[in-house]
Amino acid sequence: LTHALPALVDTHCHLDAPQLADDGPAAVIARAHAAGVARLVTIGTDLDTSRAAVGLAAAHAADGVWATVGVDPNDLDAWDASSPAALAELAASERVVAVGEIGLDYHWLRATPEVQRAAFLAQLDVARAAGLPVVIHSRDADQDTAAILLAWSASAPATARPLGVMHCFAGDVGLAQRYVAAGFIISLAGTVTYPRNQRAQDVARWLPRDAYVLETDAPYLAPVPHRGQRNEPAFVAETAAFVAALRGEPLDAVAADTSANAARLFGWNAA
Ligand SMILES: [Zn+2]
Repeated sequence: LTHALPALVDTHCHLDAPQLADDGPAAVIARAHAAGVARLVTIGTDLDTSRAAVGLAAAHAADGVWATVGVDPNDLDAWDASSPAALAELAASERVVAVGEIGLDYHWLRATPEVQRAAFLAQLDVARAAGLPVVIHSRDADQDTAAILLAWSASAPATARPLGVMHCFAGDVGLAQRYVAAGFIISLAGTVTYPRNQRAQDVARWLPRDAYVLETDAPYLAPVPHRGQRNEPAFVAETAAFVAALRGEPLDAVAADTSANAARLFGWNAA
């Protein structure tokens, strides 16, 4: 008899990252499967990495790998009037489950807020035209990100699917409540395991069972006990165990809820 591991989803990783290249994506995916991570979503951050994400998802379709395509606010150097059409073309791939990561980053300010907002709005349009949810990156820009997303959600066609996911959510319970009420779900990353991150832990305790997913953001932000090391999708199991203890729920329940939520978000038939 084998003890079945709970099936988990890593909703946000960067399988094409150079940090994960030394042993190759097949080894990274195999370690994820061994840790109970049945599905992985590899995330684009510009047109090149979006193309790479689609390629990895196609090459590893049988391994449960899916892709998102998008240009994040720190990678807008090559963004121009032709970019939305190029993105829409990539978004049409059957392996693509969302547009992202997109959003605003006023911490690094690698592009001006005006340029960031224009690219964000253009990519929200691409997502709506493609009928896809969005993966949102927001850093030190909560007010502008919320204003844009709450307006976008208000004009969305009625759907039972989440409109998108707040990746590596760093806001407080009040902001989480506003996003959930507007039709978004919240993604908890390894940062929730950091002892001093009371704000994320409060959010993790508050979240309704149908309103959150888990992610690694690998190769970045490894959870305890791997903090400071290279992160990889297998480590989403550590975050799941931490969140289960925090919520006072069995690990199996957290795995089942977050996998079902990921399936609704990304349009999979079943987790
Ligand atoms: Zn990311």
